[in-house]
Amino acid sequence: MPIHRFCLACGREYAFDEERCPACGEPSLGHDFDGDLLKALAHPIPDVAANAARLLGQRQPAGALEALLRASQSAEPLRAEAALEALASFDDQQAHARIHEALGDSRVRMRAIAQSLSRPKA
Ligand SMILES: [Zn+2]
Repeated sequence: MPIHRFCLACGREYAFDEERCPACGEPSLGHDFDGDLLKALAHPIPDVAANAARLLGQRQPAGALEALLRASQSAEPLRAEAALEALASFDDQQAHARIHEALGDSRVRMRAIAQSLSRPKA
């Protein structure tokens, strides 16, 4: 699998050997891609957090499950929705319980996402 970087400024994923983000010019961070993703989950720009959530769901590094469970409780909709979707990729009781809980969320979109994630896969 190719090694990528993740831009903490704009959320873009890009090749590891780049010294700057090709999208926004932000200097590349260190070598801890998963650590950067975990930090980015709390990024003030919701799109950045949502992108981080998706990648954490795919990569499932240590600490990702707990961080996504927290982020899925966020009052910020994009962050919470992406975190909830990412939780569906974990084969984990807590993740499933959180999705079930979100069926009763006060927000329509969160409920709809929880519903689509709760359907048995064909
Ligand atoms: Zn960038």
